[in-house]
Amino acid sequence: MKVITIDKKDWASGLEKTKSAFQVFGPVKEKEWHSFKALGPGEQPDMAYNNTRLSPKFLVEPQTDPMFTYSLDEAKEGHHILKEVRKDIAPKAVVGIRPCDAAAFLLVKRNFDTPQYQDPYWLEAYNSMTFIGLACNAPCSTCFCTSAGGGPFNETGLDVLLVDVGDSFVAKSLTDKGDKWLSAGGWASATDASGKVEALKQAAETKITSNVRTDNLKTRPTTQLYDAPFWEDAAFSCINCGTCTYSCPTCWCFDIQDEVRGTSGIRMRNWDSCMFPMFTLHGSGHNPRSVKVQRVRQRFMHKLKYYVEKYDDGIQCVGCGRCIRLCPVNIDIRKVCNQMNDYDPAACVCPA
Ligand code: SF4
Ligand code: SF4
Repeated sequence: MKVITIDKKDWASGLEKTKSAFQVFGPVKEKEWHSFKALGPGEQPDMAYNNTRLSPKFLVEPQTDPMFTYSLDEAKEGHHILKEVRKDIAPKAVVGIRPCDAAAFLLVKRNFDTPQYQDPYWLEAYNSMTFIGLACNAPCSTCFCTSAGGGPFNETGLDVLLVDVGDSFVAKSLTDKGDKWLSAGGWASATDASGKVEALKQAAETKITSNVRTDNLKTRPTTQLYDAPFWEDAAFSCINCGTCTYSCPTCWCFDIQDEVRGTSGIRMRNWDSCMFPMFTLHGSGHNPRSVKVQRVRQRFMHKLKYYVEKYDDGIQCVGCGRCIRLCPVNIDIRKVCNQMNDYDPAACVCPA
């Protein structure tokens, strides 16, 4: 592990050099929002941003991802045989990713890389990435990463952590991939800025005043939480738009569909959302989550109870706050999480 300093005067030229070894992505402002974009020659990331509107999960799991093509034309050779769509797995560097979003990939990895099966699409894309994190010196008011297992200077899931210390970035390499990225940029000035970095870290953590209580989630009986009286209230204003799930870095659900035009077909997977009424529609016409309150409950129970029980390693949320900022009707996961954590049916005075 090495720690070096990158003078901001040398940042742009070094980043240009890395583009010969990596396809570089970074936060770019479009209208009032930031998004991760591929950076062409001369293009620089905006390293003074707060966070992107959508999480960078699409870099590994695109919203629409072609998997196979096929032809139904019997006059063509190889008709009715699925042909894999080759993926670009050349090295990529995601520069300026926030610690919460990098940590989110490790939560999602549990779904795509299990002892029973490995998803080659997700894993190959993920393994091609080098994550260059940017510590949050000024977290948003809706961030609650420190009570979701992370923090504004968290290193989990990163290859390099950059800390903006004013005239320079302090770059801490955390993996071999991180070493390669720093070498590609030609940055090599060793530094010991641990005091300055620690002061910034403590100041950033102090700015996070938002939190969730999670200590009782694991032991609360599932059936009691499932039948709790607060779900109708939590779901009342939801319009099932799916914004919370699409913007969330830890939501991974997808659907596989065929698109056929004439005799040519593409099989692709698309993001899906447990908030959509058709998400659980069976071929028989039966829908076990046909009612809105069932879908809202599912989203929160999955993130805050089923996941907690299955992995015993925290909640399926990194506290990025996107779903709070973007929900059009102000549904707030912090409130629901605390209700679930504190729910005691014996003490409840709500009508059952
Ligand atoms: S963003 Fe808000 S309104 Fe839309 S589905 Fe999620 S909770 Fe419901
Ligand atoms: S705060 Fe919301 S959007 Fe962010 S990780 Fe948690 S559930 Fe997902």
